[in-house]
Amino acid sequence: MHIVDLIAKKRDGKALDKEEIEFIIKGYTSGKIPDYQISALLMAIYFQNMNDEESTFLALAMRESGDSIDLSEIPGIKVDKHSTGGVGDKVTLVLGPLLASLGVKFAKMSGRGLGHTGGTIDKLESIPGFKVVLEVEDFIAQVKKIGIAIVGQSGDVAPADKKLYALRDVTATVDVIPLIASSIMSKKLASGADAIVLDVKVGHGAFMKTEEDAVKLAHLMVEIGRLAGKKMTAILTGMDEPLGHKIGNALEVYEAIETLNGQGPKDLVDVTIEIGAHLLLDAQIETDFDIAKMRLQAALQNGTAYEKFLELVEAQGGNLKSLDNPGLLLSKKTVEVLSEKEGYIMDIDALDIGKAAMRLGAGRETKEDEVFLDVGLDLHKKIGSYVKKGDVIATLYVRDKGIIEAKQLILNALTFGAEKRKIVLIKQTIK
Ligand code: URA
Repeated sequence: MHIVDLIAKKRDGKALDKEEIEFIIKGYTSGKIPDYQISALLMAIYFQNMNDEESTFLALAMRESGDSIDLSEIPGIKVDKHSTGGVGDKVTLVLGPLLASLGVKFAKMSGRGLGHTGGTIDKLESIPGFKVVLEVEDFIAQVKKIGIAIVGQSGDVAPADKKLYALRDVTATVDVIPLIASSIMSKKLASGADAIVLDVKVGHGAFMKTEEDAVKLAHLMVEIGRLAGKKMTAILTGMDEPLGHKIGNALEVYEAIETLNGQGPKDLVDVTIEIGAHLLLDAQIETDFDIAKMRLQAALQNGTAYEKFLELVEAQGGNLKSLDNPGLLLSKKTVEVLSEKEGYIMDIDALDIGKAAMRLGAGRETKEDEVFLDVGLDLHKKIGSYVKKGDVIATLYVRDKGIIEAKQLILNALTFGAEKRKIVLIKQTIK
């Protein structure tokens, strides 16, 4: 097999088969095929696309390039969720304990963030003592014992994807739905879960800007997962504004704790319950979707979900006392952002709000950046709020970095109008 023939085949619009895709991924990962030939292939894919089978072969070949976790020792159906990334998205922090409190096995390997705020792992590290690195045996033992563990990715998951993604980044080929789908799914398929719900975000704060593209991506990821033997669901949710109010690592833990105690913002609760209900059915713990939702709501209200969260924190070495007053995890230095306009908030550029948090130090602009866990922002006003000049739009929790820039980003992110706008959060379900 010769790579030049495979580039020509794709250039001419033909589908690559399993062996050919494996040859490409093995050759590229080992360094036998150089960047310039893979760059040409990526551009050919950009113009000629790939069908569902090719995308599945690509996802599987990339998964095979690295480590996968075997969860078969844990009895029952193991579940996982993945979000394509949104501002203020702390769903995993709520959903994991919530599902585990109802008997679902939640064995989660999460990433650190690059961009707006940290990832789930950075957020959990804002709890003093919380260990995000566990030996695989301890990770499995913890899930068997209490139903949940959340750790950072161990081993080398899908190294072919890392190399390919870096090349896509510099060859204008990130934006290709089959490549995005196989990239995400190569890592999900390595996570060992039996059932996966994908939360595909759509809107200007999201990777997918239009519903049409989000639907295509969702369908393809569901198909890849299914062809690989997983139970799959995707939901499309709006990222027209940040999820919840709090953005930043300790701030998001704070809001997750409020939510686990039945005091969460409606949008965060709705997305969590929707994903949770699908997974409760997939895990065969409930058969009726509406009853599943009611059981999840009840667990948020009656304290059982929060108890499970405390068990998780304790099992992973976190200081439980620090959770009695999570406000103490936040920076003491605060700055208020006051509105310069009056009217209904019609639109909030979620990406700019995410950038504001990042400028304060809540996220990484480059992999090497240090994240400050105690900074971020609390956005008091959301779409549909009526705001007068001088009203407090947001409270910033700061160190000494990026305050002026963050304020400006927040003020510029808001669009005002004369009418109250309603938004649809959960747009579609794709099975
Ligand atoms: N996230 C990924 O993991 N891969 C992509 O290609 C895009 C977003």
